[in-house]
Amino acid sequence: MVQEKGTISIHTENIFPIIKKFLYSDHEIFLRELVSNAVDATQKIKRLSSLGQYNKELGDLTVDVSFDEKAKTITVSDKGIGMTADEIKKYINQIAFSGATEFMEKFKEAKDANEIIGRFGLGFYSAFMVADKVEIQTLSYQEGAEPARWVCDGSTEFEITEGNKTERGTDVILYINSENEEFLNKWKLQEILDKYCKFLPVPIKFGTKTEHEEDGVDEKGEKKWKDVEVDNIINTTNPIWTKQPSELTDEDYLKFYRELYPMSEEPLFWIHLNVDYPFHLTGVLYFPKIKNEFEIQKNKIKLFSRQVFITDEVKDIVPEFLMLLHGVIDSPDIPLNVSRSFLQADSNVKKIASYITRKVADKLNELFRKDRNAYEEKWKDIGLFVKYGMITEEKFYEKAKDFVLLVNTKSEHYTLEEYNAKVKDFQTGKNGTTVYLYTTDAEKQHSYVQAANKKEYDVLVMDAPLDNHFMQQLEMKLEKISFKRVDADVIDKLIEKDDAQKHDLTEDESKKLKEIFERAINNPTMKVEVESLSSESLPVTITMEEWMRRMKDMARMGGGGMGFYGSLPDSYKVAVNGNHKLVTKMLQSDEAHATQLAKQVFDLALLSQGMLKGADLTSFIERSVNVVTE
Ligand code: ADP
Repeated sequence: MVQEKGTISIHTENIFPIIKKFLYSDHEIFLRELVSNAVDATQKIKRLSSLGQYNKELGDLTVDVSFDEKAKTITVSDKGIGMTADEIKKYINQIAFSGATEFMEKFKEAKDANEIIGRFGLGFYSAFMVADKVEIQTLSYQEGAEPARWVCDGSTEFEITEGNKTERGTDVILYINSENEEFLNKWKLQEILDKYCKFLPVPIKFGTKTEHEEDGVDEKGEKKWKDVEVDNIINTTNPIWTKQPSELTDEDYLKFYRELYPMSEEPLFWIHLNVDYPFHLTGVLYFPKIKNEFEIQKNKIKLFSRQVFITDEVKDIVPEFLMLLHGVIDSPDIPLNVSRSFLQADSNVKKIASYITRKVADKLNELFRKDRNAYEEKWKDIGLFVKYGMITEEKFYEKAKDFVLLVNTKSEHYTLEEYNAKVKDFQTGKNGTTVYLYTTDAEKQHSYVQAANKKEYDVLVMDAPLDNHFMQQLEMKLEKISFKRVDADVIDKLIEKDDAQKHDLTEDESKKLKEIFERAINNPTMKVEVESLSSESLPVTITMEEWMRRMKDMARMGGGGMGFYGSLPDSYKVAVNGNHKLVTKMLQSDEAHATQLAKQVFDLALLSQGMLKGADLTSFIERSVNVVTE
């Protein structure tokens, strides 16, 4: 007997075609919405029971998801509070949106289904994305309640009749339409449940699964096994982020990590987030071993809202550099159903981002203070992360400047302050700037590193992906320091001090020497200069000025407006050591011999830079063999 027929109160005609058409991309979330409703109804009855407002047995509260391939239905059943016919009218029929007109205006701009569904409280109606007809069978927990049935075929017409439920709770039955039959599949549904419902707080059952169970021993004393069908519970109801850190062991955290990322290496350490004010946020963030595999590490944080999975695109919620972390964050205070630009402007989201940044910085600081050795050992893996954070987040820089480490060629680690104290006296030039020398490749630039070490200069290793930017940032932030690569100039000029030596050559001799080399090298991009270096320094050194190399590096990395420098040929300085004894010999030799000597020492310099290649290398070797055998 039909108790009531009516029209769902939306002023604007027919909302369902909109739901179906415009929300096309995210069809699968209907299941998330229905299971979430079932979980909410279950939580409510639990609460009423614990408040003493419901005194009957709660019984097994497992939510059941099932499907029937023949009948083409998917059913979500709960044993929650249920609904009376009046409640159906109130909660289901009068769709809880503030105005259908507003909705009709807004849906045009909406970019995804989440946006519409959440904003207008349409969770339940997302069922119509995949179903032609939806039926509710429900029995309220209230004393004397009658079972009720609601059916709607996707028009604005609905029907409420007497229902058939004999036990408290609600069944929502979807009659799947022909375009969405892919959802009538065990693996598909399992996949969706795994994605969205894996950590819901009430057990969710989806069919059964076969498990091996020990079944005594056979005559030979060997273990016997049997297959048993057990409920397929798809979720963990209290994942670790809902617990207190004090209840958890390291193994718990590692186990959870393996569950989330079965293919990943063990994380280095983790942070348990837990805050109630001024917003709610829980979560566990892990530091993976980042090494240099920068890009592939991103997008590993999962965002939940009250244990319902929402997205793994957290780009606008956590600062860019924190996206290198893995793990979960759960917050009911992140507005989930708004556009990206709205999200970034949201004050809770801003607070959450700065809270996470601070927690991460505090954790690193704690590790650094507690056990410096262990921290240094991990530096290879966290260095990139810390530098990335310092470059991109001012607030993080302020904290991290105390625990970021510089590493030198002897593998010694220094904080910024320690390093400055170490090199200030030796490496400050006459203009008052302290020069931090670095190498990008200690092997290739070995002779330069050695020359610097001979002078008792220290050399840092800067070979990580972001080191260029990092050095630039330090130059901006720290007063009176500048970075120079060890091969940016001859050693005596890298750091210019007052005690510059003079060479003993006359102007004529200098000029002649320069000509000899220019003839021998015969390459306009090699600018020869006669310098006064210590007599133990190499006779010839090839260098590229720091600024020129940086410009070219930037142009290579596609820096804006650097095209001009990129198009310049590499240009080097060839510094001839006017104090080397070979120079005297060259000036006394005949032209042919002098040229040959010049060629030889120039090639040696090229060789030490790793720049001598191909035919030039071959002829150098031949020439050298001749020199030895002559
Ligand atoms: P929302 O969940 O955002 O309020 P929905 O459209 O999903 O919006 O649901 C509307 C209302 O219908 C819910 O707030 C709840 O009162 C009721 N409801 C939906 N599903 C159930 C259920 N399984 N059991 C009891 N009540 C339900």
